Amino acid sequence: MRIIEIRENTIQLEGLLSNATISFESHTVSLVAVITDQRRGGRPVVGFGFNSIGRFAQGGILRERIIPRIMKAKPYDLLSDDGLKFNIDAVVYAAMKDEKPGGHGDRAGAVASLELALWDLNAKLLDEPAYQTIRGSFGLPQGGNSVPVYAAGGYYYAENSPKRLTNELRSYQDLGYQSFKIKVGGLSLTRDLERIHSAIGVAGAAANVAIDANGSFQLDQAQEMANAIEPLGLLWYEEPCDPLDFSLNRIVAEGYNGKIATGENLFSMIDTKNLIQFGGMRIDKDIFQMDPGLSYGLTEYGRMLGVLESSGYKRSQCYPHGGHLINLHVAAGLGLGGCEAYPGVFQPIGGYTDQCELVEGRISPSDAPGFGLEQKTNLYPYLQSIGK
Ligand code: MG
Repeated sequence: MRIIEIRENTIQLEGLLSNATISFESHTVSLVAVITDQRRGGRPVVGFGFNSIGRFAQGGILRERIIPRIMKAKPYDLLSDDGLKFNIDAVVYAAMKDEKPGGHGDRAGAVASLELALWDLNAKLLDEPAYQTIRGSFGLPQGGNSVPVYAAGGYYYAENSPKRLTNELRSYQDLGYQSFKIKVGGLSLTRDLERIHSAIGVAGAAANVAIDANGSFQLDQAQEMANAIEPLGLLWYEEPCDPLDFSLNRIVAEGYNGKIATGENLFSMIDTKNLIQFGGMRIDKDIFQMDPGLSYGLTEYGRMLGVLESSGYKRSQCYPHGGHLINLHVAAGLGLGGCEAYPGVFQPIGGYTDQCELVEGRISPSDAPGFGLEQKTNLYPYLQSIGK
């Protein structure tokens, strides 16, 4: 068994939306196809993956460094001992040849898109959904596959009004979502508080509404927001300050009784170790949002979980950033606290499929082999063109 070819296709994300710090108008994602010499049902077995939404495509790094190194490796060295699947550790090791440690940058997303494609590939080789493959690889018991889910939306648009926001959240509610996350930090505190109250009005309870400042606040602004929302009892307060300013995170957490969420802009296990050492994250309370798609993939994510759990945190405190099928399988496979959903944004990558069952705030992946990306009708044409 061997990899015949690895391809990358840069996909433009749809949408004219912004958070407090960036516009997504020009954002792209790398879709990667790993094509093998294996066949199922008369067709080649192809693994698909993509990197994190919000970090741009990484085609240059993939084509110039990562893919050539893997194609140069001896095929046998990239297989598991039983030869039935690929040894993902070995593939990542080959991909990272001659890369210095630290200063991860965009290569963390480039490697992630490939690493995640290998999980899709291995699951297809075993003819099972990826969450089962993930459990098997991490030594976890098989069992139920539904996880709590919340709908992420409430971005800023050219025209912002409470009515626009409530209509958007009601449309997610009509799909079956019960919890929501909205952006803050892009307008005045007064106007953002109006938005928060509008969201609570739709959700029916503040405990079903999270807010995300996307690292936009200075300390005084972060504390002002914390003081304003503390009496409300929101679901969580996400990335109040710069994601790498761990001491600022600690100061905000020390003065805020509710849950703080952060971690979606960490790239490695060591970054996570620094967050828990210096960021004031509270055991049994705060939320970790590291995302395999921007941090070298699921293997490194597993190492992050190891660091968290050895420090007393629980995997139920983990909600990976990124509301798409890959992270749904990750959350279900690893038994995390829950997952995000992008029901209305970041197409064709974001959101789930009709085959994913959403019942009372919990969602299940389908039983299609791999991540089930082929069931996403608006993504399928891209898979077809890159994977044939
Ligand atoms: Mg966020």
